[in-house]
Amino acid sequence: MIHFVGAGCGAADLITLRGKKMIEEADVIIYAGSLVNPELLGFKKENCEVFNSAKMTLEEVLEVMIRAEKEKKTTVRLHTGDPSLYGAIREQMDVLDEKGIEYDYCPGVSSFCGAAAALKMEYTLPDISQSVVITRMAGRTPVPERESVRSFAAHQATMVLFLSTGLLEKVETELIEGGYAPDTPAAIVYKASWPDEKTVICTVSTLARTAQENNITKTALIIVGNAVSQSGYRRSDLYNPDFTTEFRQARR
Ligand code: SAH
Repeated sequence: MIHFVGAGCGAADLITLRGKKMIEEADVIIYAGSLVNPELLGFKKENCEVFNSAKMTLEEVLEVMIRAEKEKKTTVRLHTGDPSLYGAIREQMDVLDEKGIEYDYCPGVSSFCGAAAALKMEYTLPDISQSVVITRMAGRTPVPERESVRSFAAHQATMVLFLSTGLLEKVETELIEGGYAPDTPAAIVYKASWPDEKTVICTVSTLARTAQENNITKTALIIVGNAVSQSGYRRSDLYNPDFTTEFRQARR
């Protein structure tokens, strides 16, 4: 049995109870050493074998899984944040499907949630934005042209950019040419929920300079949109005394 587990975005106590239990019971752990908190390995059994996938190819990861399976062992494949975002899990699951190896999947706290918490921010403010665009700038990994940052910028929704901290000059240009005003508020969140977490507020036109001034070159998310200012919104209907919901009658 293979368990794909979301480790959460940093702090070890952000893993789910289910994920922790899977680590405690695993015979083999393959963890993404670049971003998974090594403290999580403290939950493993004494004789559990550990592999750091940062130094491995897909083929090598699969080899470890297939061998463990032959030995009737339980493997945890520990991915950073939530595995569904930039996790490269489909290519692993496809081979396991081919080989008839059983697996399941335990979600985790993605860094885009960790970043909102670091900023004490609500991404979806009434009248400001009701959508979150999660994307990345095209770099060494291409992004389909129809999903360019420029094209999403036209919506001026809240946008969270992964994997783009090294490309901020290009990000600024795309955001502004796409539709955000240059003075639209933006935030850079470095290592959300880690002890050295850092948050900086700037504007769309000062993203590159702000990252440089703060020595932030990786492990950061860029959050863009008027929601970053956390002001100018309309209060919710859900908690409005004049609004009837499934659970509560409006006061008359
Ligand atoms: N599956 C992960 C994302 C993996 S891609 C998730 O759900 O968060 C790796 C990118 O995620 C990094 O380049 C960075 O942009 C972002 N990232 C991961 N952990 C982060 C953290 N703690 N704080 C800020 N950004 C983070």
